[in-house]
Amino acid sequence: MAVVRQFQGPIDLHAHSSVSDGTETPAELVRAAAGAGLGTVALTDHDSTAGWAAASAAARTARITLIPGMEFSTRVQYASVHLLAYLFDPADSALLAEMTRVRAARLSRAEQMVARIGMDYDLSWDDVLAQTTPGATVGRPHIADALVARGHALNRSAAFADILHWKAGYFQPHYAPDPLRAIELVRAAGGVPVIAHPATRGIADVVSESRLKTMVRAGLFGLELEHRENKPEPTARLYELATKFGLYVTGSSDYHGTGKPNRFGENTTAPEVLDRIIAEGHGSAPVYG
Ligand code: AMP
Ligand code: ZN
Ligand code: FE
Ligand code: FE
Repeated sequence: MAVVRQFQGPIDLHAHSSVSDGTETPAELVRAAAGAGLGTVALTDHDSTAGWAAASAAARTARITLIPGMEFSTRVQYASVHLLAYLFDPADSALLAEMTRVRAARLSRAEQMVARIGMDYDLSWDDVLAQTTPGATVGRPHIADALVARGHALNRSAAFADILHWKAGYFQPHYAPDPLRAIELVRAAGGVPVIAHPATRGIADVVSESRLKTMVRAGLFGLELEHRENKPEPTARLYELATKFGLYVTGSSDYHGTGKPNRFGENTTAPEVLDRIIAEGHGSAPVYG
């Protein structure tokens, strides 16, 4: 018989540590979440589970519930689609192979972008490495930090708005699986897939009704409709489609430490929805700290 638990405090299911592009270690992140008054936090680094062990240990000490998770990079043509995945088996070989492939593609893509930026700005790959925790999933935020350190941008947001913007000509996409395949992989690994921030500009076309229907058939659990980057109009439309297809709705901060203005608990997920995630997720277990 399942143990029924009452979740104490706000639930925030999307946060990044230095294992990807957040600025705090997994343990620091968990302590910051507890300090901000959260009752439950999910660690969802890009394409990696390397922070789970340290985050679990910190959750036990900080008396906060940890949901192990990941934000899986997927792609539809040129549009990047982020898939949150919770409670999957981190040792599942098919999922692991795809995660490894994506991380490698992100690395060579970052090296190529930096080589191109380096033709116009004083910036080297070593500058990027100096901003990256060894083994971390590399992304544009690390290049942004290197640009800031070199004085080419004031902060991450300014770097994204300028040199890292696709209009600047240095942007390059990287390999990522189709979201349908990613949903299947996550479910096959016992995990629970939720599309992250699906209503940001451009993504509205990607998450059309017909595409959403195929994702639901493949095992999609829900949509992260409460997120600061979602735009009102596509969000309203996706709320209708969530009702139509029986999808759950989550809300989260997408915390990145000092790397983004997003604060813990600025958006939250209902306890009933977390109950369903825990009921359906069977590849790994929550840590009840
Ligand atoms: P990438 O996946 O390497 O293309 O980088 C995209 C990541 O950069 C996203 O997952 C965000 O976490 C981060 N990001 C995007 N825009 C911004 C911004 N304006 N400021 C800081 N971080 C950003
Ligand atoms: Zn990120
Ligand atoms: Fe994202
Ligand atoms: Fe994120």
